[in-house]
Amino acid sequence: MEYVKPEISLVVPCFNEEEAIPAFYEEAVKTCASLNKQFEIIFIDDGSKDNTLRILHGLAKEDSRVHFLSFSRNFGKEAALLAGLKAAQGDYTVTLDVDGQDPPSLIPKMLEAVVSGEHDCAGTRRVNRIGEPPVRSFFARRFYALMKKITEIEIVDGARDFRLMSRKYMEAVLALQEYNRFSKGIFPWVGFKTKWFEYENIERTKGRTKWSLWKLFLYSLDGIIAFSAKPLAAASVLGVVLFLMSIVFIGFIIIRRIIWGDPVDGWASTVCIILFCSGIQLFTTGILGQYVAKIHTEVKRRPYYIIKEAQ
Ligand code: UDP
Ligand code: MG
Repeated sequence: MEYVKPEISLVVPCFNEEEAIPAFYEEAVKTCASLNKQFEIIFIDDGSKDNTLRILHGLAKEDSRVHFLSFSRNFGKEAALLAGLKAAQGDYTVTLDVDGQDPPSLIPKMLEAVVSGEHDCAGTRRVNRIGEPPVRSFFARRFYALMKKITEIEIVDGARDFRLMSRKYMEAVLALQEYNRFSKGIFPWVGFKTKWFEYENIERTKGRTKWSLWKLFLYSLDGIIAFSAKPLAAASVLGVVLFLMSIVFIGFIIIRRIIWGDPVDGWASTVCIILFCSGIQLFTTGILGQYVAKIHTEVKRRPYYIIKEAQ
């Protein structure tokens, strides 16, 4: 069959999504067909342990517009997105989740915004977090507020990874070759003009979320470290403040010694000070360690992912 270059590429990361893929495929095809444009759907099987790969084999066999990349193990959503973007052939590329939380029905409107040339990217954000545990929403809000303060990029609150981008925008995203990829930061970092589309939160219909609160916490730390050196500066400031405090304290002790002599007491306060200072030291060394660990993974230059099979 003659190869037709697709105009639109859908990039869809999948990790243990056997339940969600069929419904997603149907809806995506329906939406893309209504656009009257050539399209391709690239699924990335991120080392799934269920029947995801088998389902993708089936779809690719039946529909030549479906392609897939299958990783040798789970490399994470960031790696899956990167692999998908690199493989995408279209003039416009859409990244979206397979679980129904990113409604493909928004694609026509998003495409319009970018095709007109007025914007380079169409992003989506959810305006509420209905159905999400309140603790998670609370920490997510705090995280966005913190990022706004300590980095020069502004992450839009509730922004999803559901985006439609022009080739120019996509190439800018791919030009960032860092190993520790934090898409939520990379997208705003590259700049360009983004048009935002808002929608109500949709709860996952099939399967389960892979994000525990702990995983989200670690992910947010990754984001902070990838885009800000402020924690290091904060550690230095803390050191300076404690140093100044200790000078005042030493002065106080000397004067007390001169005036009142040297009564042997105060060991409790000494122990407290030692504990306090060593705690702070470990804490700040820990911050430094996080950055060193990131440098460690960067300099190793390992591949972002390993493709076991592609079609
Ligand atoms: N995903 C992935 N690799 C992972 C975790 C998730 O490719 O290690 C995919 C998953 O299949 C889904 C998308 O990333 O299509 C978003 O994951 P999920 O729905 O679990 O996250 P949430 O929507 O709850 O943020
Ligand atoms: Mg989801």
